[in-house]
Parts: sequence; structure tokens; C-alpha cells
Amino acid sequence: AARLCSGAGGEAEAAGGAGAMLRHLARKLRASGPVTVAEYMREALTNPGQGYYTRRGGVGESGDFITSPEISQVFGELIGIWYISEWMAMGKPSTFQLVELGPGRGTLTEDILRVFKQLSSVLSKCDVSVHLVEVSPKLSEIQAVMLTGGKVQPSPEDESAYMKGISKTGIPIFWYRDIQDVPPGYSFYLAHEFFDALPIHKFQQRTEKGWREVLVDIDPEVPDQLRFVLSPSRTPATQNFIQPEETRDHVEVCPEAGVIVQRLASRIEKDGGAALVADYGHDGTKTDTFRGFRNHKLHDVLSAPGTADLTADVDFSYLRKMAQGKTATLGPIKQREFLKNMGIDLRLQVLLQNSGDTATREQLLHSYDMLMNPEKMGDCFNFFALLPLHRLAHPDKKDKPESKSPLPPVAGFHELLLK
Ligand code: SAH
Repeated sequence: AARLCSGAGGEAEAAGGAGAMLRHLARKLRASGPVTVAEYMREALTNPGQGYYTRRGGVGESGDFITSPEISQVFGELIGIWYISEWMAMGKPSTFQLVELGPGRGTLTEDILRVFKQLSSVLSKCDVSVHLVEVSPKLSEIQAVMLTGGKVQPSPEDESAYMKGISKTGIPIFWYRDIQDVPPGYSFYLAHEFFDALPIHKFQQRTEKGWREVLVDIDPEVPDQLRFVLSPSRTPATQNFIQPEETRDHVEVCPEAGVIVQRLASRIEKDGGAALVADYGHDGTKTDTFRGFRNHKLHDVLSAPGTADLTADVDFSYLRKMAQGKTATLGPIKQREFLKNMGIDLRLQVLLQNSGDTATREQLLHSYDMLMNPEKMGDCFNFFALLPLHRLAHPDKKDKPESKSPLPPVAGFHELLLK
């Protein structure tokens, strides 16, 4: 049901006829030669006319892959608690923005806003607004229905948001295409299964020739069939994106993820807040994770582009490097540990006690298993956080004599302490 956590490739599915995207790419490749995997992925996923996210959206049971917030409301509720816990630990600032990158169907924000409403006595004096960064017009429509009941209006051209509305719980919501359009201010950021959708470059080390980049080309023998080739020499990306200390011989790098993390880190450093990133990934150890999904099955990445989700594991060691100096980082920690620390077992017990019928109880247990089972989503999904440097500073260090009380531990990464 969920996207698998490792293993590339999979059975090639019939392309089902050359689609508009394939014809567009084939024309481009014939005219100007092979493109990087990043360029291919960007076209296939977010081309404004034919891209996968632009047209299909894909998330959910009836789509191509299912994500944790779509599996259980408990997931979003615990994330909502995480933000409240950090908001309290940071001295309850009088205002904050909740900024979600790639909100999918809007389910996660919906669950978080329900928690904010339930805990409105705690948040009562805080001015909260929601800011969604979404490139897909189709998904932003679905989000608008989910979160506002469809009561949204397009923003005037001179405003940075392209759409705005009011949540069912009375909170203003704004939509943007890029994180840079979100106004500055104290913000809690959220990126769930967002970074894995960003374009990656792929490289291979060839002993006698050094690094070469994997490119996508048209097969000269078969009409409209794509294939991978290796660049004959170094490319700008091989020069810029491979770390000098790299020891793997196959590497995937997502520079766009690096740029976004740098932006988040700068914003947190300047205006305060925190970012929570949750995704499948590794800490700089895996090599070939680029894969496609269609109808909940692995799908050949080069077949029928634009009709399948393309994804690659997030390299958390790279994200950590990109945030260095500006913010502290925590994680990656496995999803099952994070959710356990956040109190998922207790929440499950309460829901089980409150549910009268067997079907609901079975559903609750089944979704808990999906999220927590190490063989399912428990082990391969990870949580990672960016926090202001002072949030993790050790209170009894000699150079910080002014610190009075010890800082509370960060929830999820340690056991939850709500005072
Ligand atoms: N967070 C959701 C959806 C994950 S799918 C969930 O967990 O269910 C990835 C999301 O990122 C989609 O909403 C997609 O449209 C969006 N997206 C992909 N590339 C993007 C980009 N470059 N900028 C903004 N959003 C993007």
C-alpha cells in the first residue's frame, strides 16, 4: 500500500501508448541531446502542462501511493502536539506561521489544525496563520476543499500568495508556489514526503575516468523509448555536487533540497521557529534509490513519464550539512521511535476505549501497525528537525552563566514532557 522504502527498478510496465509528455521529451532529446536525471524528474513531476503532480496529484488510497497522514489521523495529531510543545519550549511567542511544503491533499494540516483547536485554551493568545507551498493547481484545489470547504479566493497579482482562505477552524490560510514567497516571521515548517519528490542528480564513479553523471537519452534503436547513458566527460554537476570526501561509487544528490534547507535554516536563524522534516531516507549511505510508483506498484522510472510518481530517498547527511552553522539539527530518528516518544501508544489506547464498534477498532490497530511496524513504515521513515542554535545549547556551559533553568528536551527525539 505505502511506497516501498528501498530498492530501485521494479518491473517495467507497458507505457500504454506514447503520451504527450513522452513525445515532448523525445523531441527535446532528439534536438539537444541527453538531459540530467534532475531535469527529467522535474519535467515528469512538475511540468506546468503535463507533470505528474500538476495533472494527477497521486496521493491517497485511490491514487498511486499512500502516506502516513492518509493512513491515520493520529500521525497529524502527534505532529500538532510537537509544534505546541516546541512553541511552549521557546517561550510561547505571541504569533507563529505554520508553513507546510508540499501538503498533498491537506490532510496533515487538517489534523494539526484540529489539535490546535482542541488545545485552543493553551494557544488562546497566539495569532496563528497557515502558509502552504504547493506547485500543483490540482492539489491546491483539493487542499482548499479539505481545509476551507472550498471558500477561497485568488489573491491579487501584487500579493505573494496566489490564493487565500479561512480554515474551518477560523485560521487564515495562504498558498504560494515557492518558499521564498512566504512572508518572513516566526515560523514552524513542515515537510512530509516533500524532499523525496525533488529532482536528484545521479553519478557513478568510473575508476579510470573519475565521476560521470547518469543522463536520460532517447534510444536510437526504438522509437520514443528512453534509456540511461553515462556522460562521456565530467558535467557541471559532477564538479559542484559531489563532496570531496565521498566514498560511495554511486551517488544521488538533490541540490534543490539543499537550497530549500539553507533557506529554512536562514529563516529560522533570523526569525525563529523550527522545521520538522519526515521522509524515507538514509544518512549518506545508500546509492541507487531512484524509483517510480503507479497504482501502488513499482513502476519503471523511464516508462510513460508524467503518469507515475518519481521519488528518491532523502539523504539526511546532506540536509544536515546544508543547515550547518545556521541551525542545530536533530535526527534522523526512525518514525516508530519518534511516534512512540510522542505518545502514540497512549493515544491509541484512548481511541480504542472511545470506539464502540469492532470495525473501527480493527482499523485503528491496522493503521497503527502500518505506521509503526519496522517492516512497514516504522523503520524506513525518519524524522529530522532544524532548531535555533540556542534551543539545544547546553545550559550549564561555562560561557552561558545567564541560563537559569535547563532547556526542556525536544519532544519526539526524546520522551514528551508537556508542562
Ligand atoms: N505531504 C503530503 C504529500 C506528499 S506528495 C503527504 O504526506 O501526504 C508531494 C507534495 O509535494 C505534493 O503536494 C506535490 O504537489 C508537492 N510538490 C512537489 N514538488 C514541489 C515543488 N517543487 N514545490 C512545491 N511543492 C511541490
